[in-house]
Amino acid sequence: MKILVPVKRVLDYNIKARAKADGLGVELAGLKMAMNPFDEIALEEALRLKERGAATEVIAVSCGAIACQDTLRTALALGADRAILVSTECELQPLAVAKLLRVLVNREEAGLVICGKQAIDDDAGQTGQILAALLGWSQATFASQVTLEANHATVTREIDGGLETIVVQMPAVITTDLRLNEPRYATLPNIMKAKKKPLETVTPDALNVDIAPRLMLIKVVEPPARVAGIRVATVAELVDKLKNEARVI
Ligand code: AMP
Repeated sequence: MKILVPVKRVLDYNIKARAKADGLGVELAGLKMAMNPFDEIALEEALRLKERGAATEVIAVSCGAIACQDTLRTALALGADRAILVSTECELQPLAVAKLLRVLVNREEAGLVICGKQAIDDDAGQTGQILAALLGWSQATFASQVTLEANHATVTREIDGGLETIVVQMPAVITTDLRLNEPRYATLPNIMKAKKKPLETVTPDALNVDIAPRLMLIKVVEPPARVAGIRVATVAELVDKLKNEARVI
């Protein structure tokens, strides 16, 4: 079974996101970019499944600008067998990404897709679910544990009230939560080897997919700055402030 792992290039999670001056997006110019952290977890899970003999090949896919090649090279250095870049300079929304992935899943005859539960740039949290719907596959979102059997997967999911365990028929789309695993680091020899692994580039046109945006971004604004806290001298003063000054949120 082949596992397809979509990996998105996003602003590095250590960098504080700032709105662009024109309010039309997040400032990315000159800032460090990295693989979406949830996708690192997805890739790690796919690699572990392959190491346990449950998969034959792990294919990393990234959709976006040519610079996504860097993210794919990282995926190859971590252990992916090959990579596919769907190259476009156009803005991609989750529906468009899911449509591109559907074509690749079918072309590759993949039996499992593991993607992040959300990309930390737009926090949409939609691509995996849309992809499962387009493919007519089972979906198991926010996974913190995955066990594969011949025809089904048992997945523990992180939900608001705690944990939920479900069994889904294969093929399936699984989206990863933080506690699923701890991703490995790429070793220097593997970084060198990754340069020789296959990285194919295709375009949305070649895949015959319409990627036109369906949603219009109106404005990106930063949240209001937090008011500084104060220190109170006594409990009585605290109670007084809570009674008389606390704002109802
Ligand atoms: P989102 O729905 O945008 O929050 O993204 C959820 C997951 O879909 C991400 O964690 C990735 O696994 C995948 N994904 C989203 N956009 C892309 C992209 N442009 N290229 C590759 N994978 C993507």
